[in-house]
Amino acid sequence: MNHTGWDVVGIGENSVDLVYGLAAPLIRHGKMPIAGRRTLPGGQVATTLCACASLGLRTRYFGTFGNDDHARLIRDAMEARGVDTRAALVRQSPNRHAVILVEDGTGDRTVLWQREPVLALSATEVPPDLLAGARLLHVDGVDEDAALAAALAARTAGLHVTTDIDRVAGRTAELVAAATLPILAEPVPGLLTGEENPERALRLLRQRHGGMPCVTLGRRGAMLLDGDRLHHAPAFNVDAIDTTGAGDVFRGGLIYSLLRGDPPEVMLRFANAAAAISCTREGAIGGVPTLAEVETVLTTKNFS
Ligand code: ADP
Repeated sequence: MNHTGWDVVGIGENSVDLVYGLAAPLIRHGKMPIAGRRTLPGGQVATTLCACASLGLRTRYFGTFGNDDHARLIRDAMEARGVDTRAALVRQSPNRHAVILVEDGTGDRTVLWQREPVLALSATEVPPDLLAGARLLHVDGVDEDAALAAALAARTAGLHVTTDIDRVAGRTAELVAAATLPILAEPVPGLLTGEENPERALRLLRQRHGGMPCVTLGRRGAMLLDGDRLHHAPAFNVDAIDTTGAGDVFRGGLIYSLLRGDPPEVMLRFANAAAAISCTREGAIGGVPTLAEVETVLTTKNFS
């Protein structure tokens, strides 16, 4: 893409995923063997930025790293994919990490995570010049004050603002209102509106907050409301081996397609294709596709 400055600045979570493969569906309250173990880079905003960079966007990360081996692993992985991490802060603490149980066959997973309180980011730590020259800000809801301060600054500067919101907390509604394109996990529109039907929930959210609200629906794809017009694109049919990071890669694909100037139905299809590819690969950042891979899937539906 031909311009100066950053395409995307992301603020939010980076993490290291300790992934345990299970040869059968998880037995709650029971015992079962581990079929395989990997240590993989991930975290929602880190993965979305890696997807953006892999698709060809110039991306910059702001957030906190710890100072242990996990911090080095995730930072190296982001840099290797072309994400600039120089603005990030380093705390004297273990990095955020997660234990992820992935079930054979479906790729369904259970996530257990740990984050030291010292890794929290405050609004005053966001550098005033972080967004200079940027086109889009992407934030999650982990450190809400910092995310909201940056989102409001981005809106004032006329940037696109996208979000990764997978739960409802104290300032979620404000974050949704601050975004031009809030991208919500499946339960969130219902939790925010009390309306279980996703289309009606998106319409209520748009009435309240404006913008183009979008919700990911797992194997059922994703929905986006543009003005009064609802777009729904079904997911691609793949043999999923690991859905970790699928939502993050979806967001990277949606951001890429938005900045390319695509209409909403093309954006949803592109993002679903990118996410579907990620489901066929292990890990969050490890599942990130290239532009050529997404385009091949869009033209041939071939996932090999
Ligand atoms: P999250 O990963 O945040 O839980 P979802 O489960 O809604 O989010 O998945 C995000 C996107 O990933 C979906 O909108 C869809 O495009 C894609 N996706 C998820 N699961 C599958 C699957 N089993 N097969 C194909 N695509 C999938």
